[in-house]
Amino acid sequence: MATLALNQVKKSYGIGPGALQVIHGVDAQIADGEFVVIVGPSGCGKSTLLRMVAGLESITSGTIQIGERVVNNVQPAERDIAMVFQNYALYPHMSVFDNMAYGLRIRGLTAPQIRARVDAAARILELAPLLERKPSQLSGGQRQRVAMGRAIVRQPQAFLFDEPLSNLDAKLRAQTRLEIQKLHRELGITSLFVTHDQVEAMTLAQRMLVMNAGRVEQFGTPEEVYERPASLFVAGFMGAPP
Ligand code: ADP
Ligand code: MG
Repeated sequence: MATLALNQVKKSYGIGPGALQVIHGVDAQIADGEFVVIVGPSGCGKSTLLRMVAGLESITSGTIQIGERVVNNVQPAERDIAMVFQNYALYPHMSVFDNMAYGLRIRGLTAPQIRARVDAAARILELAPLLERKPSQLSGGQRQRVAMGRAIVRQPQAFLFDEPLSNLDAKLRAQTRLEIQKLHRELGITSLFVTHDQVEAMTLAQRMLVMNAGRVEQFGTPEEVYERPASLFVAGFMGAPP
């Protein structure tokens, strides 16, 4: 696990006079093992920020550190972090076990190492009895857990979530939210979770980073943000229905 540090991170899409600046100097220090939710209205730059941490988007200026290492020029696969997307895709022709093992096989782990990691993840996610099934034989919630299992077995330094709950129905959303909380309790992996939903942010966050138009409006505990909003924007946003 690792700390994450964003120092004056800026992002412009495009170059020259037509460039569009969407992130305007974001600073954030995230502690080892902390669960931070990035929340703000659609288009405020949440995904862009997360994608820069993941290495899927270049950083225009500033630095991003994972642990002691500045990762601006480090390839995504070398950053040791796992991203859980809104639209996960399992390999339909592979068993649950093979779906979880796939990323480890291509990284050259031995069969016993792979077995141990998949079994440990399956235990935490309550997938042990389902390891031989195909994705088509699973419920939506079970598939979601396999997708998380694939991320866990890599033993990443950090988890990045980009609105993983927003396409789910209410029941599955509540279920998956509990699953994510349980995962964080058991593994304590540093996590950055993006959502536009204030209620989701309030329930999941240890600290929340409230964004507006590419800037940080407030970075604090849910209690601080709710009881002592730092700006009219935060007060309005937290007070508004999701
Ligand atoms: P959020 O995730 O908070 O909805 P995004 O990070 O997706 O916001 O987008 C922030 C801003 O950057 C928006 O104005 C969006 O239109 C713009 N944007 C996102 N991706 C690109 C891109 N690849 N090229 C140009 N503009 C982009
Ligand atoms: Mg987004």
